[in-house]
Amino acid sequence: MLDIKNVHASVDDKDILNGVSLQVNAGEVHAIMGPNGAGKSTLASIIAGKEEFEMTQGSITLNNEDITEMDPEERAHKGVFLSFQYPVEIPGVSVTNFIKTAINGNRKAKGLEDMPASEMLKMIKEKADLLEIDRKFLSRSLNEGFSGGEKKRNEIFQMAMLEPKLAILDETDSGLDIDALKVVANGVNKLKSKDNAVIVITHYQRLLDYIVPDFVHVLMDGKIVKSGTKELAYELEAKGYDWIKEELV
Ligand code: ADP
Ligand code: MG
Ligand code: MG
Repeated sequence: MLDIKNVHASVDDKDILNGVSLQVNAGEVHAIMGPNGAGKSTLASIIAGKEEFEMTQGSITLNNEDITEMDPEERAHKGVFLSFQYPVEIPGVSVTNFIKTAINGNRKAKGLEDMPASEMLKMIKEKADLLEIDRKFLSRSLNEGFSGGEKKRNEIFQMAMLEPKLAILDETDSGLDIDALKVVANGVNKLKSKDNAVIVITHYQRLLDYIVPDFVHVLMDGKIVKSGTKELAYELEAKGYDWIKEELV
């Protein structure tokens, strides 16, 4: 599904990614771990096509289509979803209205008419029920006064509604509380299927107690330096990252 080949990226002439290659197949969950500043969020931004980063080398293919030159909107229409894309507070725009606009925007880009209101409502109800989201939450203003867990709930709801082919969840380094972690994990576990793939970026192993990855990759100094199964995450939790550095010299 996703084929990243030898990606180099920089920001303000500073090299951040130094040759990242990664293949993700449909039905798989990949975790990317690594120390602070390794380039994890940069990699997520590069896959989503965010323009503050310059990709200086390499290619990114999604379902056999080269997306390297596509802008973020085009990539989103092709099924790439990056969490934290819309962290802004939008007073007066509800969770539901925001997602309606996003979905109809996607459809418009594909030359389709707006989703009929009844169909949209049905989908909203189904996804909200699946994720155990309270109806009252859906009418709240986007991100306004949201707790950490509510922000996560909103993101997962957006992901459920947009039905991405490839979801990238960048959990950053901020300490999500256990409830927020569970919201993310339950959502991912309910939404994953043989037709989609998930990349979970996390600094800590604990999220991976709830989302069990098929593969774990360690990103260090802008490169994937080690890949393994979920056991690797436990090893990192126990031993930190320095031993990998020592292995590399
Ligand atoms: P991680 O997510 O693994 O903690 P990041 O991808 O956020 O790492 O950052 C990798 C490196 O790139 C860090 O040294 C960071 O300071 C730098 N960096 C990230 N974004 C920017 C930016 N917009 N401008 C300048 N430097 C950046
Ligand atoms: Mg960081
Ligand atoms: Mg980060």
